Amino acid sequence: MKVTVVCEYNESMSSPEGVAAYPEGLGVCLKEMFGSFGYETTLITYDDKRHAEELTEEVLKNTDVLVWWGHWYHKHIPDAVAEMVADQVNKGMGFIVLHSGHHSKPFRRLMGTSCNLIWRENEENERIWVVNPAHPIAKGMFPYVDIEHEETYGESFEIPEPDELVFISWFRGGEVIRSGCVWNRGRGKVFYLRCGHETDPTYHNEKVREILHNAADYVKPVMRIDAYAPDHRPEAPEGKF
Ligand code: ZN
Repeated sequence: MKVTVVCEYNESMSSPEGVAAYPEGLGVCLKEMFGSFGYETTLITYDDKRHAEELTEEVLKNTDVLVWWGHWYHKHIPDAVAEMVADQVNKGMGFIVLHSGHHSKPFRRLMGTSCNLIWRENEENERIWVVNPAHPIAKGMFPYVDIEHEETYGESFEIPEPDELVFISWFRGGEVIRSGCVWNRGRGKVFYLRCGHETDPTYHNEKVREILHNAADYVKPVMRIDAYAPDHRPEAPEGKF
């Protein structure tokens, strides 16, 4: 299986907290994680100068699961790239969106809503409650996964009703948010996982890594198509009988 990780670099990753959380870099951590699951994984990095130019249609067509982490520089991704990602999801590609990627162009394009939420950077405890223990992404996570230090997000999270709700997170400050959601789009599946602030070592947490392994396996293509079905039928099928 081929995984492409698109990960932003921003200056907070070079702060003492950012370097302590991911000495290797957040993007490299994600690449190595999906590689350790046995997937052929490629990393594409963008920032205030780079615009993920390497993410071409050809690359997307050869990607089974696209993973997206972004925060400061969502606007540096061209609209055409968001359109290409949405097109490939509709044709069967799996898409995993992480943390502040809730505001990324491809995710908003696929959701059709603002995807706004409330947030506080306070390094408090997140408890990820499993609300669907039978869901394949939640395998091994029941009843909850604790993350000691994370950024707080909260409802209202302006997303369309998830087709499958897997996790709801609670935070020490009292906020709750739908933190593990699946949507079907065309032939493809989209999974959003909330946790993963760039100055917290969340993606080194074994349980979070297991969730992402389960998720990649769950959203991988079932039926990939090259073209959409035609939107008209020149001849009625009855005419052939
Ligand atoms: Zn964050």
